[in-house]
Amino acid sequence: MAVTFSRDEQIAFVEIDNAPVNAIGVAIRQGLLEAIDWIEGQGGLERVVLFGKGRVFAAGADVKEFDVAPIEPHLPDILSRIEACEIPWIGAAHGVALGAGLELFLACRYRISAPGTQLGSPEVILGVVPGAGATQRLPRLVGLEQALKMISIGKPVSAREALENGLVDEVAEDAVSHAQTFDLAKFGKRVAVSRLPNPEANVEAIKFARSAAAKRLKNQTAPQKAIDLVELATELPFEEAMKRERDCFLQIREGAEAKALRHIFFAERGARIPKWLGKTESEQLASVVIVGGGTMGAAIAYAISAIAKKITLIETDEDGVLRANENVNRIVQASLKRGLISKSQAEQRSSIIQATADYSKAGDANLAIEAAFESMEVKKTVFLALEKALPKQAILATNTSYLDIDKIAEILKNPSRLVGLHFFAPAHIMKLLEIVRGEKTSDVALATGYDLARKLGKIPVLAGVCDGFIGNRILARYREAADILLMDGTNPWELDEAMVEFGYAMGPYEAQDLSGLDIAFANRKRLAPMRDPNRRYILISDRMVEEGRLGRKTGVGWYRYPGGSGPVIDPLIEDLIREEAYFAKVERGEYDAPEIKRRLLLAMINEAAEILHEGIAQSASDIDLVTVSGYGFPRWRGGLMHYADQLGASAILKQLEELSDEDPLMWKPSSLIIKCVNEGIRFSEYQK
Ligand code: NAD
Repeated sequence: MAVTFSRDEQIAFVEIDNAPVNAIGVAIRQGLLEAIDWIEGQGGLERVVLFGKGRVFAAGADVKEFDVAPIEPHLPDILSRIEACEIPWIGAAHGVALGAGLELFLACRYRISAPGTQLGSPEVILGVVPGAGATQRLPRLVGLEQALKMISIGKPVSAREALENGLVDEVAEDAVSHAQTFDLAKFGKRVAVSRLPNPEANVEAIKFARSAAAKRLKNQTAPQKAIDLVELATELPFEEAMKRERDCFLQIREGAEAKALRHIFFAERGARIPKWLGKTESEQLASVVIVGGGTMGAAIAYAISAIAKKITLIETDEDGVLRANENVNRIVQASLKRGLISKSQAEQRSSIIQATADYSKAGDANLAIEAAFESMEVKKTVFLALEKALPKQAILATNTSYLDIDKIAEILKNPSRLVGLHFFAPAHIMKLLEIVRGEKTSDVALATGYDLARKLGKIPVLAGVCDGFIGNRILARYREAADILLMDGTNPWELDEAMVEFGYAMGPYEAQDLSGLDIAFANRKRLAPMRDPNRRYILISDRMVEEGRLGRKTGVGWYRYPGGSGPVIDPLIEDLIREEAYFAKVERGEYDAPEIKRRLLLAMINEAAEILHEGIAQSASDIDLVTVSGYGFPRWRGGLMHYADQLGASAILKQLEELSDEDPLMWKPSSLIIKCVNEGIRFSEYQK
């Protein structure tokens, strides 16, 4: 039963029950309709209490229904009937009331909320607009400005804020009990929210919302359309505006942007421990060792301090210990300043991270994560020490970005203990976690990685062993294609601008300046002996490093950063590129933004297809997760392979074949692309 209803003397109870989050789908809508019919047939009722079973009131509409034609009964009609009921409905929310859940709440005559409840209209995050009245009821209830804040960027408000802005009438620990007893008369005669007067027009507030949404959800259409609809609340009668809202909702959900955002939404929800591992017990995560207290180790330690009881952070010597403590402290203070943790949480989290140079202090740990220098020798030394110091069953993980984890495992007596856990910087913020499965990695080691991801709220993606795993391997091709374009006729800023236009927050050169040019340089040097001598190699990036242009940290990289500001275009770079082209006897041409985008995206898609074909990634949607959550690929494009499927394998193959005339090694089409064309399948349909 999706909705149950009952009465106790003068109070009727309507309970929404659709685990896990009471998503409002057809069964709930049907159930609500039956509850309304039943209530209307009862006599002697004083109030109706509407609430959700389990953890939440209702987290939104059932998104699966967005892909099919609307199914009756429709939510707006149900909400009109709730509003028209003679007996007042009282919404009692706890957990979350989001999207369609908030719209249901708004149709109630009175609204009570438990503390800690999140109330919001996050539809734009899924590329749609509200479809059951939020754009009309919310501004009538809380005013234009507040409604714009909630609807245009999809950010929810807390119960306390909702009380302040009039969205809820009262906050009570037990919202359902309170809804049964509070004095209705206290609020005077109440009309339905839809009967409240239109909110006042406010041109400035609309303008502000438009520019804030354009910044926050760049290139997306749903936020601007949602703002159009909220603005209509100031002009049109409720019924007329509701029709416009519904039409817009039904139209926008069919669009490419909404489909891409739904795709990523479902991919994220599906990113969890695979079925074949599901029953494997993971190791306990109470005591964890991290080796290396630098950029990554300190941030990983901080992230895990939220879920573990003891963290031993191992450094090489006392100076290293001091630096590690400073690094951790910097992150704790920054989180405190941003209001992400309280003062007592800051103290508690700092206190459980113990930095030391002594491995014996970590004797009881069941998981160790190595984040020392990116060197095979260093990694091997660390794992030998860990093997000696830790219990035999402890899982050993490496955060290596590129190195072969099977080679690292070779030095262990029991190589099945080793797994790759590839965090992304900053490790306490970035959601992605590549779980790298070595040839001998045990199921327990993998399950422990998944368990850690779940507890940290990260998105786990399983990857096989190769240079750079999924994400960094694609990144290497992206950079290679960009460097070739630099040499052949562009400059960093034109190239960056083209990719920003595509939807990245920053282009590849500004991003390199941020992370430091020396990391990729060291990696290119490591790979030099293995490189195909016939493959084109562009020296410009190497020269940048040799000249000390390492990016932001040296104040100069592809751009200049005078006094820490910037990026500022540096004309010297153009001279440097021209000089290199002269030495390399390259006749430079011209590339416009569409051509830059086309080449960089084709290079990435081609590599990603190989990664999928080799089984390094399990599915196209795993690559989408990696590119969106770890590498800034625009979320509203659904990830690299979702985008590739929009282009179509045939069109991609044709373009690669054309480019192969220019450089057959660089543009050799992946065998998976050929396979997809021959078999007429999409990348998303490919299974190894
Ligand atoms: P870092 O240079 O900031 O920190 C490395 C730390 O390890 C230093 O504090 C160093 O003193 C310590 N260390 C070195 N040898 C050690 C040893 N034998 N025992 C104990 N501590 C030792 O480097 P980082 O950026 O934090 O990178 C660490 C690892 O994480 C590397 O393998 C890197 O490839 C990987 N990684 C880095 C990033 C990134 O963006 N920085 C992202 C993902 C993965």
